[in-house]
Amino acid sequence: MDRRVMEKSAVRAVDGILDNMLVASLDTTLELDRIALLLDIDGTLVELAPTPRDVIVPPHLGPTLEALYERLDGALALVSGRGLTDIDVMFAPLQLPAVGGHGAEMRLSADSEAVAARAPPMDNDLKRRFIAIAQLDPGILYEDKGYSVALHYRLAPQCERAIYAAVSAVRADLPQAPIDVLPGKFVCEIKHAGFTKATGVRELMGCAPFKGRQPLFIGDDVTDESVFAIMPSFHGASFSVGRRAHGVDGYFANPKDVRAWLRHLLDEEAMVR
Ligand SMILES: [Mg+2]
Repeated sequence: MDRRVMEKSAVRAVDGILDNMLVASLDTTLELDRIALLLDIDGTLVELAPTPRDVIVPPHLGPTLEALYERLDGALALVSGRGLTDIDVMFAPLQLPAVGGHGAEMRLSADSEAVAARAPPMDNDLKRRFIAIAQLDPGILYEDKGYSVALHYRLAPQCERAIYAAVSAVRADLPQAPIDVLPGKFVCEIKHAGFTKATGVRELMGCAPFKGRQPLFIGDDVTDESVFAIMPSFHGASFSVGRRAHGVDGYFANPKDVRAWLRHLLDEEAMVR
């Protein structure tokens, strides 16, 4: 491809590639000096599992992310509903920049120890109410993420309506409580209002080395839609996984294809060099 066209838009190339769904044989012209990669974890980089603890991180994923992080001069971040501690355990010993807890926590660079908390931990009385909902069925798993709580019901899908009804009852009982309910894939998450993955990404994009780069965000779930919506304001692009979500520039069939594409970015880079 001629240089002029390549420089027109680093993002456009990947857009076309994904539209053609030729993920296995990508002819990418992405310029890694100009982009930032923002990646959801569950359902995007790794396959969903019955519970968050059962998720398997493929052995090559960490090295791929680390190599991309180096090649992007640090402009690679994980954007997850998981807390930062949880994320670090998943990818240990690798530690990457991250937006955790749906924007409640933030780490701007891999070597910064500071984790900025964007919200107070959730009130204990409120948590107790959600713990009570988990007792509706032994298949419902309550997860305390500090800044949010999650009710996982992949093992008890028949409880979906009862869970949301009970959560609605809590909200009706405490109309002043500053909480948002996030429906996900077999998970109902309750977090503080006032921050989202999008608020976290906005903050990240205001800081080096992300600032001024074209962000490419990949996410699979409802909670990622807030980030899809803000990508145009950063001249970025968004991609969903498993379905074509509203407003995205393209989509991947599954996390395996996302991982293959990430490796391909490095392969292309090696060929150019
Ligand atoms: Mg996800």
